[in-house]
Amino acid sequence: MQFTDFGLDSRLMSMVEHLGFTEPTEIQQHAIPAAMAGHDLIASSKTGSGKTLAFIIPAMERLIRNRALSKRDPRVLILMPTRELAKQVFTQLRLFTSGSQFKAVLILGGENFNDQVKTLEKDPHFIVATPGRLADHLSQGHFYLKGLELLILDEADRMLDLGFSKQLKQINDAADHRKRQTLMFSATLDHAQVNEFALALLKKPKRIAIGSAHTEHKDITKRFYLCDNLDHKQDLLEHFLKTEKYQQVIIFTATRSDTDRLSKLLTEQGLSTVALSGELNQGQRNQIMDGFSKGQQKILITTDLASRGLDLVNVSHVFNFDMPKHTEEFVHRIGRTGRAGSTGDAISFVGPKDWISFKNVEGFLQQTFNFDVVDGLKAEFKGIKPKKPKGAVKAKSLSKANDKAKRVQPKKVVKRVFVAQDVGELPVLRKKSVLPVSEIDNNSETETD
Ligand code: AMP
Repeated sequence: MQFTDFGLDSRLMSMVEHLGFTEPTEIQQHAIPAAMAGHDLIASSKTGSGKTLAFIIPAMERLIRNRALSKRDPRVLILMPTRELAKQVFTQLRLFTSGSQFKAVLILGGENFNDQVKTLEKDPHFIVATPGRLADHLSQGHFYLKGLELLILDEADRMLDLGFSKQLKQINDAADHRKRQTLMFSATLDHAQVNEFALALLKKPKRIAIGSAHTEHKDITKRFYLCDNLDHKQDLLEHFLKTEKYQQVIIFTATRSDTDRLSKLLTEQGLSTVALSGELNQGQRNQIMDGFSKGQQKILITTDLASRGLDLVNVSHVFNFDMPKHTEEFVHRIGRTGRAGSTGDAISFVGPKDWISFKNVEGFLQQTFNFDVVDGLKAEFKGIKPKKPKGAVKAKSLSKANDKAKRVQPKKVVKRVFVAQDVGELPVLRKKSVLPVSEIDNNSETETD
């Protein structure tokens, strides 16, 4: 299939050609004709699949073909969960609007409010925004949405997870008229609140699920390494930064303090490094991301702040220095590499604290991963064997009285200690005290965690 098959307006088609796009990606093949036919959509697609153009192209087509419903109100509103993502969509949108009569503006939280009021007074056709700030302007009457033709919610699951449901409802209500079309994109359609929202906001939507977030990204090689502790992780990281042929690297850590510490360490080693920590203000974050996307540094260290959507085409390697807390973040993190057809490497370190997260990722992706080993850097940690369910089931079914009785039965206690030892290979045996099963289980969790 070619873009020419969509029957796009000739001006839009020449923009698409000028930008060098010939074949639509899978999500574009499905979403563009459905959106052009006027359907509401709920669509999922894996990261880096060309989702942004899947909504920008039908939006441009609609504006070119149809008369505006109102002279002053924005015609298309694109909502994104984070400022970085909104900036990125805006950049792609500008490629299309800059040669047209349509004005596009970007309204982000954390930036000057009064400047934004002036921007909105210019009656833009497109607004790309984060929901919180946009809802503030709406409440203060700086613009109206009665003439809105197309509402696009990108990364809807993330917006809802970030607590924007109130603002999204407010925006929806302000633009609630018969002619409005709504396109909703979400990393996963398997999300209760997304489905609830889809029911409330969309009219007879077409559902498009292209290789959901659960699907393996074929262009990304995933490697996993067991680690004993922080020093071991650092040694492995240093090893890979010396031995891997990389263009640009993103390293994901669990906390901001890890981000800062690692950045200091790698900078001291003379590596071109920058850290995106949450303590920076928006201007500083923008500057860092701009610099990194222009290739000013080789290595970006960050928490999950940068895990979604950012289109950094030169990132050849992603490191999970720590496994993510939220399982689906794994997919978003590794999706920062292998963008638009290029290949990438995702290297993950799995220590005792990462074990649960690692198992959750295996479950989420419905795959079992083997561990690779670096010569001279083999871990002693061998993973944590699952608990024997027998004891746990029994424990649940015990009444309080039985529990009490069990505590004074040495035979049972020995059995339970064995269960705990099996779980962690950690010093649970040290505890000679007589504990009920549930307490032993909790202890072993804490110690292995
Ligand atoms: P996205 O998933 O929207 O973040 O897009 C990921 C990357 O794919 C961006 O760099 C786009 O410019 C690129 N892209 C989008 N559509 C196409 C296409 N049809 N052909 C080639 N590259 C594309």
